[in-house]
Amino acid sequence: MTVLVLGGAGYIGSHTVYELIDLGEDVVVADNLQTGHIEAIHSKARFYKGDIRDKEFLDNIFKNEKIDAVIHFAANSLVGESMTNPLKYYDNNLFGTMILLKSMLEHNVDKIVFSSTAAVYGEPEKIPIFENDNTMPTNTYGETKLSMEKMFKWVSKANGLKYVSLRYFNACGAHASGNIGEDHTPETHLIPLVLQVPLKKRKYISVFGNDYETPDGTCIRDYVHVTDLAYAHISAVDYLKHGGDNNIFNLGNGCGFSVLEVIEAAKKVTGYDIPVEISPRRAGDPAKLVASSDKAKTILHWTPKYGSLEKIIESAWIWHKNHPSGFLS
Ligand code: UDP
Repeated sequence: MTVLVLGGAGYIGSHTVYELIDLGEDVVVADNLQTGHIEAIHSKARFYKGDIRDKEFLDNIFKNEKIDAVIHFAANSLVGESMTNPLKYYDNNLFGTMILLKSMLEHNVDKIVFSSTAAVYGEPEKIPIFENDNTMPTNTYGETKLSMEKMFKWVSKANGLKYVSLRYFNACGAHASGNIGEDHTPETHLIPLVLQVPLKKRKYISVFGNDYETPDGTCIRDYVHVTDLAYAHISAVDYLKHGGDNNIFNLGNGCGFSVLEVIEAAKKVTGYDIPVEISPRRAGDPAKLVASSDKAKTILHWTPKYGSLEKIIESAWIWHKNHPSGFLS
């Protein structure tokens, strides 16, 4: 099987490519390298540099390669940035996906697995969150991902496309090989920022708000290892290949950890003190997001391997310690 991974030089994309190649699949990567890293692309993948908003670029890939399924990671994904620059998100995430679907339809490629997000739920009414709970995004990022899901739904009805949407909770950790890990510029995610303190790249970690309605006042999230997310994508491709119908799955560990709990776990893993400064809330942040992933476990037979927060942080710590400047190290 040949799988086209859009955004395969990015964080979750590159980890998925590694797992696909480990399984002996043929992999084509497309990435514009705006946020992805050339060093993150597996040497056994065929790489095309370009942008999903460029239809000729996509048409050329579908002409050159015999693609069986697409895994689509090529999107902007920062909550904070999406609140200050919403049109960037509509352009890349929504317009880009529209061009992609046009090109897929023209080349009779009918299977796609796509990165969605817990941000589609907004402020949940209850925890854990199930796939059929209300979707009311509180930020532009989540809104564009929800619109992408709807685009797939309507194109599927009209043109027979088959899709799986994977709503990730908080992706974190790094590959066991130590070759790839998280490297965003600017970094905005909690775990890599926390680990910058023991790496002496920052003096303290800012905690965005301690007045939420949670036991310690800080936001609660469901942290899931990036390799576990990679497995889920591969299971989803397999599910579509075997005739599975359009579907939406949450991917999380089902355990919520507050920002302060993450910092405590990082202190244990690294053996360093990590000073905290309380800052104002970040726009668009819901208080609590924790998944029920029962559906993915039952239907996709997804079995996450990294259950514990400490194990996840440990894998991230190994990556960041050995690559203090990310892929440029
Ligand atoms: N957070 C924080 N300080 C930081 C970065 C993040 O307090 O420097 C909080 C953020 O407000 C959220 C949680 O950590 O409650 C996880 O944020 P992240 O950006 O890692 O992921 P998101 O939940 O936005 O996908």
